Amino acid sequence: MSKKVFIKTYGCQMNVYDSKRMADVLKPHGYEQSESAEDADLVILNTCHIREKAAEKVYSEIGRLRAEKETRATEGKNMYIAVAGCVAQAEGPEMMKRAPAIDMVLGPQTYHRLPDMLKSAEEQRTGGRLSARVLDTEFPVDTKFDYLPTDESAFEGTAAFLTIQEGCDKFCTFCVVPYTRGAEYSRPVKDIVDEARRLVARGVVEITLLGQNVNAFHGDDSNGGSATLGGLIAELDKIDGLGRIRYTTSHPRDMDQELVDAHRDIASCMPYLHLPVQSGSDRILDAMNRKHTRDEYFAIIDRLRAARPDLALSSDFIVGFPGETDQDFEDTLDLVRRVKYAQAYSFKYSPRPGTPASVSQEQVPEDVKSERLARLQALLNEHQLEFNEGSVGKEMDVLLERQGKRAGQLLGRSPYLQSVHVNVANADNALDATGDKPYTDYMGKLVRVRIVEAGPHSLKGELVRALN
Ligand code: SAM
Ligand code: SF4
Repeated sequence: MSKKVFIKTYGCQMNVYDSKRMADVLKPHGYEQSESAEDADLVILNTCHIREKAAEKVYSEIGRLRAEKETRATEGKNMYIAVAGCVAQAEGPEMMKRAPAIDMVLGPQTYHRLPDMLKSAEEQRTGGRLSARVLDTEFPVDTKFDYLPTDESAFEGTAAFLTIQEGCDKFCTFCVVPYTRGAEYSRPVKDIVDEARRLVARGVVEITLLGQNVNAFHGDDSNGGSATLGGLIAELDKIDGLGRIRYTTSHPRDMDQELVDAHRDIASCMPYLHLPVQSGSDRILDAMNRKHTRDEYFAIIDRLRAARPDLALSSDFIVGFPGETDQDFEDTLDLVRRVKYAQAYSFKYSPRPGTPASVSQEQVPEDVKSERLARLQALLNEHQLEFNEGSVGKEMDVLLERQGKRAGQLLGRSPYLQSVHVNVANADNALDATGDKPYTDYMGKLVRVRIVEAGPHSLKGELVRALN
């Protein structure tokens, strides 16, 4: 009899990818995916530990699930709760103590062992125990990628994520990733190309290559050497039907010339780059252990813009890092004014247990962090709106991914990762502008669009013509 699993994903796109892989692992064991916890036999929380708030959300969710589990038990039904991801990796044993409703805790490197863990949990609960105690947060010698099936047959959509690299050896002083995801590892080129081919055969047009340090990629190639990310993009570009390649997240130090050139020479390499700088102050960059200065960052941006003048840039920022003065923060605002990002993410510094910065005596008061974050976000939003307004009147290719809220409208992404609402027809269920096919036939297609309106978070456009 088929069972149901509900996977709730927190945090980054790598977790989104991992959640899909967990669903693939469970499928041969009779688990279908469910849309909610209410009718699920197994609930997996795939967690994020990057900031304190992210971890706390998990505990409140477990509280809600516990009530559901207890109700089911009174009806003689079993429900299993598993916690996966980075909170599990960092706090596994403590989580089991703090939240006894949890049956299983598994780290990001052990998903392939999920069926075995589930079996142990079931055995432990025969006899009517409300919860099992199964914990697996090892960093196994063999990579999970060798064991995880990739069931692309289950994939529906035109844009997909593909993890090519995991872990990090950089040890920025604020960050838990090197501890929760372990050492840097790159998948072999052949495995990635095969996975990409299978995705494209299923109708995928755009692939985003994922990695905590994606541009540090150095996967084995077929000649006994290793490929850089630029080399991998060139290989993927040969796949017929793969129209768009993106990658995230990159570190400035790993932005080598081959990758810069890929933006100039490879049409499928999209003109958008998320290149987090975190701070515009040399003093803070040093304290963060980022190992580059602001001038070095500007030099990288100059090289990129010389190679691809229309490149849209994005970044992450942390405000209120320990010891950040008003002047340091002003340096960050100055960097933002110079680079002018198309989009950006910004956060208040959040001390993470076990990281060097968390024990600094120079913590910045919360109200100062809030005030700085508001000022930074106001400036970033201003630039984002300016960037979007600059698109009005231009024609660009948009990959249509889903139905918009309005009748006759489909929603897609521009090359610069902007959301674009495209009017394809005048009314719901109507034919397209040419009058010969339903407008929804454009879903999953690349189309040429004229941008007619811009807002802070999205654009509006009119269909010019279909491209594929
Ligand atoms: N590898 C990427 C890089 O080097 O920029 C970052 C990956 S991290 C998962 C995503 C973002 O979370 C970071 O760029 C940083 O801005 C933010 N972040 C990480 N640790 C943080 C902390 N302790 N407090 C606030 N923000 C944090
Ligand atoms: Fe974390 Fe990125 Fe620094 Fe690695 S490079 S420690 S993932 S912020």
